[in-house]
Amino acid sequence: MNYTHVNFLWDDAKAASLDPVGRLVYRSNLLGSDQRITNTGGGNTSSKLKENDPLTGESTEVLWVKGSGGDLRTSNRDNFSSLYQDKLIGLQQVYAAKANKGIKSEAEDAMVNMYFHTTFNLNPRASSIDTPLHSFLPGKHVDHMHPNAIIAIAASKNCEKLTQEIFGGDMAYVPWMRPGFELGLAMQEVARKQPAVKAIMMGQHGFISWDDNEKVCYTRTLDLIEKAAAYIEAKYAAKGGDATAFGGPKYAALAPEARATAFAAILPWLRGQVSQQKRFIGTVQDDEKILRFVNSKDAARLAELGTSCPDHFLRTKIKPLYIDWNPQSEDAATLKKKLAAGLDQYRKDYAAYYAACKRANSPAIRDANPTVVLIPGLGMIAWGKDKSESRVTAEFYNCAVEVMRGAEAIDTYISLPQQEAFDIEYWLLEEAKLQRMPAEKELARQSIVVIGAGSGIGKETAHRPPTSPTAPASAPCWTKSRSPTAASTASA
Ligand SMILES: [Zn+2]
Repeated sequence: MNYTHVNFLWDDAKAASLDPVGRLVYRSNLLGSDQRITNTGGGNTSSKLKENDPLTGESTEVLWVKGSGGDLRTSNRDNFSSLYQDKLIGLQQVYAAKANKGIKSEAEDAMVNMYFHTTFNLNPRASSIDTPLHSFLPGKHVDHMHPNAIIAIAASKNCEKLTQEIFGGDMAYVPWMRPGFELGLAMQEVARKQPAVKAIMMGQHGFISWDDNEKVCYTRTLDLIEKAAAYIEAKYAAKGGDATAFGGPKYAALAPEARATAFAAILPWLRGQVSQQKRFIGTVQDDEKILRFVNSKDAARLAELGTSCPDHFLRTKIKPLYIDWNPQSEDAATLKKKLAAGLDQYRKDYAAYYAACKRANSPAIRDANPTVVLIPGLGMIAWGKDKSESRVTAEFYNCAVEVMRGAEAIDTYISLPQQEAFDIEYWLLEEAKLQRMPAEKELARQSIVVIGAGSGIGKETAHRPPTSPTAPASAPCWTKSRSPTAASTASA
């Protein structure tokens, strides 16, 4: 296949020089290096390999699967957990014997701790919640990715029909299910019923594909993304392309100097407003792509729908704050007033969402302020606990915009139902992970100016790299973080 929407990077000589786990790491790094294949911290990979059991000396099948912590692009061996495949399959009996099991049940969540009992060779890496997906599918090699082009189909109203139309019989379909044991069982059932199929569209989420040959597995992953992207771009172009994206422009972008002046007028104040519970650092983005979205006729409607994919909305919150400000006829004072009213409404909406969706054992309501603010004429401000996190928030909303662009080009974009979003955001496993996070440093969440940073101590202080985020245990496919590569960012 000719690739125009992804980069084919597999090098046979390089792959041949590596051992089987090395080839899994290699494949993972290649996939993670292209943001069109998967987003920061998104997705996971696995290989089922023959290993000598240290207990018996006999050959046994071991599932090497990307665990929690780190990111595919930079993963090494240490980022993979190794688990006895037969013991993982055996857990299906353990689960079957449980009472009150089912999707999102306590019985299902309890299986996560059982993965530790299947550890091969004392590997300390905590397993991903996606482990059963990799174990229960028949392929020796499995890739689970979050490409914008595929999520655009996954977040389309007619996802199942489109999947059939675009991929023919090559891709099966499962509707949205929160990742875990039940999703693994559902995928196993699909693979049993349709043995010729080697990929599954995961509604509202992404896709998974597999093969017994690792290069074929890698190639299949790329082929399916390429096919999805080509289909979307053809429809997008036929509809008028950029000129008519998101219903066409409603407002025009301000000139760069005028944008800078407007941002300077609102940013310190806005940071104070969103930081009422916890301080935030902002990343401003005002490139052509984001301006096309915020300036469009459909931006208000699409922003209100919120983001679709769990790894997007955990950072971007369930929806961004869109301000209907006219950059051509209204001034900065009006913008401030509209922002204040918008923030007030946003917090009320967030409290209403919490009240409507909370369960008896849900954690307490979290910060009700938006982490993404969209302003026509100006662009986007994304918030996070530090500069790196705010850049990841920005990157994820860029992914969300790309997903909406694709979905609206081929169909109608739909977001995850609020209850499903809530059940991810307030998942007890997520809460437990937050509780395990190390305490923040003394100067965290502060904007810091280093005076005299031209040389000596000042320069060293300014250049000291941030400490890397600590890997949470048992993270699903969307919670790892890496330094973002997003361009055109600036801290506010
Ligand atoms: Zn995923």
